[in-house]
Amino acid sequence: MSSRSKIPLHEIKYVLLDMDGTLLDKYFDDYFWEHLVPEKYAEKNNTTFGKAKEELFKKYKHHEGTLNWTDIDFWSKELNLDIPALKEQIRHLIEIHPHVEDFLKMLKKQKKKVFLVTNAHYKVLDLKFKKTELGKYFDAAITSFEMGYPKEMLEFWEKAEKKLGFEREKTLFVDDTEEILKTARKYGIKYIIHKAKANSKIKPKLAKEFTHIFDFKELMK
Ligand SMILES: [Mg+2]
Repeated sequence: MSSRSKIPLHEIKYVLLDMDGTLLDKYFDDYFWEHLVPEKYAEKNNTTFGKAKEELFKKYKHHEGTLNWTDIDFWSKELNLDIPALKEQIRHLIEIHPHVEDFLKMLKKQKKKVFLVTNAHYKVLDLKFKKTELGKYFDAAITSFEMGYPKEMLEFWEKAEKKLGFEREKTLFVDDTEEILKTARKYGIKYIIHKAKANSKIKPKLAKEFTHIFDFKELMK
């Protein structure tokens, strides 16, 4: 069954969309954390790229799925690097996935309420909206940092519902992280889609328990 026939868009009033990996190419973020940060960390600590990477990946793993992970000010302190300035340095790598704008335009036309829900820090959200000009398609954008919980936790969804006023029964949510989709499902979001192909340069991973799309054109008539 195609993903299009699995999602009755006419029954959907609210569309919640993740940013990194879903709307935007996760290549930027992967390059940033797996290449640029280790490089700068190695320089700063007078060590090799390999050793820096090893050390950093342990730190990343430790904070994954927590609010710290999303907080670039935390990482600036933790790593003694200016993380926002480094992100700014590679802003040219921020790219929108194919057909995302067409999909957003279609949602606007169909008068859906469209919300961005992201674990990204508000400073990163600002940078990415400035670069991509996607902000105009959204009725609101919320970050896990504002909510006080990452999307992996049910508390995020309780706060998000209060803030945005969506109805779970009439809501579609698209994200590239399986853990987050599981939490959204548990919370009762009715329509859930996994965005496979988060990073355009690596082979897509499929979430077993969810309908997936590779490209937003699959959700368009
Ligand atoms: Mg994501």
